[in-house]
Amino acid sequence: MASFTLHGIPVSRGIAIGRAHLLAPAALDVKHYLVAEEHVEAEVQRLQTAIAAVHRELQTLWNELPKDAPTELGAFIDVHALILSDPMISEAPLDIIRGRHYNAEWALVTQIEELSAQFDEIEDAYLRERKADISQVAERVLKVLMGSEPLALPQTGNPAEDEFMAQMVVIAHDISPADMLKFRDRSFIGFVTDVGGQNSHTAIVARSLDIPAAVGVSQASSLIEQDDWVIIDGEAGVVIVSPSALVLEQYRERQLAALRARKKLSKLKKTPAVTKDGTAITLLANIELPDDCGPALEAGANGVGLFRSEFLFMGRAANMPSEDEQFEQYRRAVTAMKGRPVTIRTLDIGADKPLDPTEHTALNPALGLRAIRYCLSEPQLFLMQLRAILRASCYGKVRILIPMLSHAFEIDQSLAMIEQAKAQLREANMKFDPGVEVGAMIEIPAAALSLPMFVRKMNFLSIGTNDLIQYTLAIDRVDYEVAHLYNPLHPAILHLISMTIAAGHKAGIDVAVCGEMAGDVKLTRLLLGMGLRDFSMHPAQLLSVKQEILNSDMGTIVPLTRKILRSMDPDGIADAVLALQTM
Ligand code: PEP
Ligand code: MG
Repeated sequence: MASFTLHGIPVSRGIAIGRAHLLAPAALDVKHYLVAEEHVEAEVQRLQTAIAAVHRELQTLWNELPKDAPTELGAFIDVHALILSDPMISEAPLDIIRGRHYNAEWALVTQIEELSAQFDEIEDAYLRERKADISQVAERVLKVLMGSEPLALPQTGNPAEDEFMAQMVVIAHDISPADMLKFRDRSFIGFVTDVGGQNSHTAIVARSLDIPAAVGVSQASSLIEQDDWVIIDGEAGVVIVSPSALVLEQYRERQLAALRARKKLSKLKKTPAVTKDGTAITLLANIELPDDCGPALEAGANGVGLFRSEFLFMGRAANMPSEDEQFEQYRRAVTAMKGRPVTIRTLDIGADKPLDPTEHTALNPALGLRAIRYCLSEPQLFLMQLRAILRASCYGKVRILIPMLSHAFEIDQSLAMIEQAKAQLREANMKFDPGVEVGAMIEIPAAALSLPMFVRKMNFLSIGTNDLIQYTLAIDRVDYEVAHLYNPLHPAILHLISMTIAAGHKAGIDVAVCGEMAGDVKLTRLLLGMGLRDFSMHPAQLLSVKQEILNSDMGTIVPLTRKILRSMDPDGIADAVLALQTM
């Protein structure tokens, strides 16, 4: 097959070389794993048994039709029985299990997706609508399958199969952040999606898993075919499909070079992050789940600067974590960090992190009932989370961080709710640290422009550059069509960041950056020059940033940063930031 290259938005460092695994959107809702050779026929049997069960179900429905039922009802059941007997449902998915080793559910939804695409192209409206019937039949089969015990587990135990899985890159139209997290236990080595932005939460999770990925690779899922060899250059956002042997060799060499560089960096783990002139910097980790504390410590983090607690809630609308379950998770993170501070951000649900992806979303979800707005509208849920966080404060140094504040009354209400949660704990004779610090995310321009309101009442600030850029430049961080406008070096952004750092320090409180800018080594010196002393980022980025800090000298950085902040010339700013890197 001829080689071709696709360009998208770079997401994370590293190069992945593997076989394409096309993920149908519906496949994300069902289990998907590869079945070992020796279990393939049993898996085929499992699907056949489910199909037979649905045949019996339809027959019973037919037999139990009341005499006066409209004739359409009987005809409807007949159509479903016919669809179920058609080889496109009764045979093709079996071939997928045998050929691709997919589990039964995955094979069925893959086949349905392919059929749906064919139906979309039919001109006859009546026939086109039969697509819904096919989906309904498939849903009946899936329901039976989901009630049956899977015969083969994701880890095959077969070295050849496992090696194959370890080489798979996922190609999908889109992947939600919650679905992305599901991949953390699997051996997929890279991701490519048709849509998405560099700072969407899906991209953020890919970075935190340290998996090479490219998003916004328009039409990748229709141009790339199952099992194609694919190279993902996560740093350039380039995807090479069916590469020549020469190109493959070059990328393998680059992979090895990157591995060697990482090994070298790991020697810095215990080195304090201090600039050449002796300025000490605190390097903190961003985590999604308590398990991420392992990699954070491994990278030598001084603590957790951002625990995105919403990842404990996503996809669990029907089964929300209780206060005890949350407490247990927060306590795990706090004890894992062994006395280092753990900054737990309260629930930032909404926008591209919905609690329930199937529920109605607002017209402009990023501007809607998100984060603290949502929490203040659900006081019982908020109080429960605050109690759980406070209880965990007995096990180490916990800090509470409130996202998306912009109004004075939101600050007051949040602080009042924290006091209420403390009172409830006292009443219940439960222990907590009464001195837990409370901080505000500065991620809405209105907040950055009314800092006195914040510094008076908060113990610390943390700048969320991802949203600060989104809301200042009025571009959806998830929308790849405006991704080219997402510019951290826009003078307006630089001003808001530097004003926030200066205001916090003048008031004597800590200011961190926990947005993706903090982990971008190209911007480390610029942030140092603005006075930033607390950087919070994915553990995977921490040592590269530390290396940059060790090689930096404030004496040369500060004057050039001041010049950059006075400039309104975007090209001049970009050149000067580049010059900072090479000083
Ligand atoms: C930010 O907005 O920069 C941030 C750190 O929060 P999130 O990316 O989770 O919105
Ligand atoms: Mg944010």
